[in-house]
Amino acid sequence: MTDSTPQPGVPDLGGRTALVTGAAGGIGRACVLRLAAAGAKVRAVDRDAEGLAALVERATDDGRPGTVEALTLDLTDLDAAEHAAAGTDILVNNAGLQLVRPIEDFPPEVFSTVLRVMLEAPFRLMRGALPHMYGQGWGRIVNISSVHGLRASPYKSAYVAAKHGLEGLSKTAALEGAAHGVTSNCVCPGYVRTPLVERQIADQAAAHGIDPERVVGEILLADTAVKRLVEPEEVAEMAAYLCSPQASFVTGASLTMDGGWTAH
Ligand code: NAD
Repeated sequence: MTDSTPQPGVPDLGGRTALVTGAAGGIGRACVLRLAAAGAKVRAVDRDAEGLAALVERATDDGRPGTVEALTLDLTDLDAAEHAAAGTDILVNNAGLQLVRPIEDFPPEVFSTVLRVMLEAPFRLMRGALPHMYGQGWGRIVNISSVHGLRASPYKSAYVAAKHGLEGLSKTAALEGAAHGVTSNCVCPGYVRTPLVERQIADQAAAHGIDPERVVGEILLADTAVKRLVEPEEVAEMAAYLCSPQASFVTGASLTMDGGWTAH
């Protein structure tokens, strides 16, 4: 069985179109492959054209039932983002970026960019997608939030603010969409094994003068009961579940995959 083989209970998404942002990276890439494995026609959006090309090649080599088409787009172009979402049945808001810096040293322009990509773009993508979803009486919005949508950590002001905002946006979309057959939910992972986290591990190892294994065990997973990183495919599985018929009553929810972090 491959990481993205359809599982029992996960829908046949044949005939459905999906748009996934941040598709060239860890979680977004896994979501694209998972939804394509379930038969969806996936529009993979990222600013990283090379990463998208590699993804399309991988999806084609795999011979998945669905198809993957690449759209190179910088989501700071909000009008283009809204336009790109027109006609999609499933929207996965996943693109994100991180800067770890105390508030007094945090560059205001980076704060604005983080909010733009991780909160304003999802809003504009929803605006673009909802008329079609409402028109057919079915739609799925999956917002890849984070434990940082529910908890703060020092030095991550923009990221924590954006994710808390995304949580509110998701719940509002759930209330507005319910009468139209549209669900909206957040998936809230702890630390996932992706390039974003690999970079943080390397930075922290250098900053603390310790090896990467100790960074994972002693710093990243200090509050996590299950002492391992989450795999991107596990997050993609949750996203696929949220598109299933069994999940039609699940809306306005924040589904944690945090190894017990928020149980504290
Ligand atoms: P990643 O860095 O591997 O991938 C993020 C992708 O977003 C990249 O391909 C990047 O090119 C794209 N992107 C960034 N800015 C963009 C822009 N302006 N326009 C278009 N594309 C842009 O990150 P990841 O770890 O896979 O994270 C994906 C999502 O999951 C993010 O929202 C992140 O906050 C969330 N998340 C990650 C973790 C983790 O531990 N990795 C934990 C919880 C939540």
